[in-house]
Amino acid sequence: MSSSSPLSPIPWFDDIQGVAYRYYDLRMNVAPLIADQKQSLYIWQETIHWWLDHTIKIRFVESDGDGTYWFIMGAQTQRPSSNLSFCKNLPISDNYERFKKGHDGEAYLRLGVYKKKALEEAKGGEICKCGHEASDHDENDGDACLYKVCDCKEFVTFQVTLSRRKKTVTDIEFISESDEEAVRGDPLVWNCMYTHKYSKES
Ligand SMILES: [Zn+2]
Ligand SMILES: [Zn+2]
Repeated sequence: MSSSSPLSPIPWFDDIQGVAYRYYDLRMNVAPLIADQKQSLYIWQETIHWWLDHTIKIRFVESDGDGTYWFIMGAQTQRPSSNLSFCKNLPISDNYERFKKGHDGEAYLRLGVYKKKALEEAKGGEICKCGHEASDHDENDGDACLYKVCDCKEFVTFQVTLSRRKKTVTDIEFISESDEEAVRGDPLVWNCMYTHKYSKES
């Protein structure tokens, strides 16, 4: 528990599948993606529900050169026994860049869940994991992709469902990993980077 320890007493949840960035409502939405609905509900009820909105921090640490960033999130809570901090190293995406430019210092935090969508539920223009559209998949042939060069045997796409519950986040910062002072100066960021990266490097 000593504050000089680089390790945080708050456990890390690093099993995020990704982060969705969506415009709707009045603000942009940041939605860490959780593997399934049950876990998402559990995390909300046990952890995020108890967070004090004005203490929620989201940090984006961009690694230089490798096209990735660290998503880092934590808060003070009314229920310390079940608190978690969240982090994940993710590829920089267009949606991320859009959020970075457009968030205006505020965002809604939600949780997102991936739902696998089969061919029967998909519309013609939706894209399969193989990169081809639903309409290019044959409903009569086990949903196989019709492109000759493609060996995809089954149409699969993913739909993101966002929780209706939300929290408002007003403490959002973008940091470059090469800015050592900024990385070390922010305990949440430093804990994450030390635990998940630097302590493993040497
Ligand atoms: Zn396919
Ligand atoms: Zn295909």
